[in-house]
Amino acid sequence: QLLSGDNVDAAEASLEKSLRPQTLAQYIGQTRVKHELGVYIEAARKREESLDHVLLYGPPGLGKTTLAMVIANEMHVQIRTTSGPAIEKPGDLVALLNELEPGDILFIDEIHRLPKIVEEMLYSAMEDFYVDIVVGQGPTAHPVHFPLPPFTLIGATTRAGMLSAPLRDRFGIVEHMAYYEVADLEDIVERTADIFQTSIKPSGAHEIARRSRGTPRIANRLFKRIRDFAEVAEQAAIDEPIVDRSLTYLRVDNDGLDETDNKLLRTMLDFYDGGPVGLSTLAANIGEETDTIAEMVEPYLLQIGYLKRTQRGRVVTAKGYQHLGLPYPPQN
Ligand code: ATP
Repeated sequence: QLLSGDNVDAAEASLEKSLRPQTLAQYIGQTRVKHELGVYIEAARKREESLDHVLLYGPPGLGKTTLAMVIANEMHVQIRTTSGPAIEKPGDLVALLNELEPGDILFIDEIHRLPKIVEEMLYSAMEDFYVDIVVGQGPTAHPVHFPLPPFTLIGATTRAGMLSAPLRDRFGIVEHMAYYEVADLEDIVERTADIFQTSIKPSGAHEIARRSRGTPRIANRLFKRIRDFAEVAEQAAIDEPIVDRSLTYLRVDNDGLDETDNKLLRTMLDFYDGGPVGLSTLAANIGEETDTIAEMVEPYLLQIGYLKRTQRGRVVTAKGYQHLGLPYPPQN
C-alpha cells in the first residue's frame, strides 16, 4: 500500500526519532565520556541533587545533542533545548529559566554564540541559581531578584576555545567528544539499518563506517542515500560494491573526503604551493564561510594528518600530497 506524502514524512520522522539512543548503554562509542557521565549521574541521583553543569565540545554531528537527551533520560528529568543564537536578549533567557522544574536540564547548543549580555546573566544562574533583572524603565526602573530552581545547564560547542573563561569555569563537568572509531561507526550503521529494516552485510557497514569522516551524522546520512541506491537496484542487502558505487556517485572519495575537503586541499596546492595559508584566505578562495571551514572541514583533515597547523597558517602534509596523488616534496 502506498503511503501519502504526509504519512511518508511522519513515518520517516518517527524512524529518525527512534534513531536517537535513549540510554547511555544504547549510546555507541565515546567510552570514556560515557563512563565518566555514568558515575556523575549515579552520584547525583543517589544524593537526589541536580547534575552539575556539563559542557560538551567537539566537531558537529558527533551526537552532543543526542547525548544531552540521554543524560536527561538517565536523570529522569525534562530537557528544554535551545541554541546560542536563538537567545537574543536577557528576557529570552529568563523566559526559558522560568519554565524549569527542579532538576531539569536546559540544553544550549552553540553556546559560544550567546550574546555577551545573556552570557553574563548565566553566571549567577549557574552558580547560585538566581538572576537579577531590571523591571520598568527610566526613573521607575528597579532590579528584581529572581530565584531559580536548581537546574543543570548542558552547553554544546564546536569551538571550546571561543568560550570566555568565566563561562567555561562554571561547568563542573567538561567532556571532549572525539571522532568515532570505525568499529563504533559500524555498530551505529548496523543499528540504523536494523531500525530502517534494511539488511546490510558486514562489508557494507564497514565501508560506510570507513568513509564517514568519524561522524555518526554522516554515517547515517550516507546510509540513507545508499539504501535508496540499493532499493532502486533491487539489491536485497547492502554490500561493499553497492556502497562503493553509491559513494563514488555522491563524490565521497576512498578516504571519505567530500568535494569541499578535496577542493580545500587542491586550492592549497594550486594557489599556495601547499601553504602556509590563513583560514580566511582559504575560505574566500573556495567560497565557504570561515566558520564552516574552521568547524566542519579543517578538524577532520587535521585529525587524519592531511593538514597541519603552523604559526603562519595551514600546511598540506606529505600524506595530503599522497592523497591527491602528487609527489612530496613538491617538484617545481
Ligand atoms: P551534535 O549535537 O554533536 O552536532 P547531534 O547530537 O545533533 O550532534 P545527531 O545529528 O543527532 O548528532 O547525530 C546524528 C544521528 O546519529 C542521530 O540521529 C543519532 O541517532 C545518531 N547517533 C549519534 N551518536 C550516536 C551514538 N553514539 N550512538 C548511536 N547513535 C548515535
